[in-house]
Amino acid sequence: MEMSGRTALVTGATAGIGRAVAVLPAREGAEVVVHGRDAERGAAVVGEIQDAGGTARFVQADLVDPEDVRHPADAVGDADVLVNNAGIYEFRPTGGMSVDLFDLHMDLNTKAPYLLVRAPAPGMVERGRGSVVNISTLAVAVTTAGTGMYAASKAALEQLTRVWAAEYAEGGVRVNAVAPGPIRTPGTDAMDPATVRAIADTTAMRRIAEPEEVAEAVVFLASDRASYVTGALLEVAGGRRAIGG
Ligand code: NAP
Repeated sequence: MEMSGRTALVTGATAGIGRAVAVLPAREGAEVVVHGRDAERGAAVVGEIQDAGGTARFVQADLVDPEDVRHPADAVGDADVLVNNAGIYEFRPTGGMSVDLFDLHMDLNTKAPYLLVRAPAPGMVERGRGSVVNISTLAVAVTTAGTGMYAASKAALEQLTRVWAAEYAEGGVRVNAVAPGPIRTPGTDAMDPATVRAIADTTAMRRIAEPEEVAEAVVFLASDRASYVTGALLEVAGGRRAIGG
């Protein structure tokens, strides 16, 4: 019960990686705030946590809505852990991108974490403890045609991770990022299976991973077990970079 007495806000916890992340701190005694847009899926994740003996509640907010984006932080109050997971990823050539889609990637993948960190960080510093984990992507380190707006939005998030690590370290707040490779989620289930298979084949392990395999890395960084780790980027990508690229 290493997270007993802590409160963890996980964005985009109604599905995929976020759902898998939300379940683990609850098992370790944390109160988990499950964020998402879909109330039905949110209630299901809260129910799953409660059925296992944990404590959770749902907070609904569309993080690209300038008013709504403030809601999760207000609803949580004193968060000890913030996992910026909610995100979108659409792959298309630069000429085929609309400005609206570009803005959507930036607003959800970069600007929302920026606004969400600013809210609880002062409280974390006041209490002298806190941990933020940002979910990036291997698409930042491995350049592939068609990933421009997505990779750019997450590259900015990786840089913010390092800057926030520098800014908040003296206040006892650690900020890290996780870069997953291909993970089986509702998001990737909606993609062309051949594309997902092709990405999985570029990893050393030649397979797609389950969301729980990412969640373990996220919760490690969020926990006191990573007490001397800040500003780090942990790849959970089946050895993709070990074999080049
Ligand atoms: P997913 O299955 O598509 O789920 C996305 C989650 O984000 C849902 O909980 C969704 O909430 C929430 N969300 C989407 N748009 C939102 C908005 N405007 N406001 C608030 N919440 C919103 O995604 P995933 O595959 O688990 O990916 C999660 C994160 O991991 C993303 O940041 C993604 O870039 C990153 N990642 C994923 C992979 C992969 O292979 N899956 C690889 C590398 C990185 P509702 O459903 O309630 O609307």
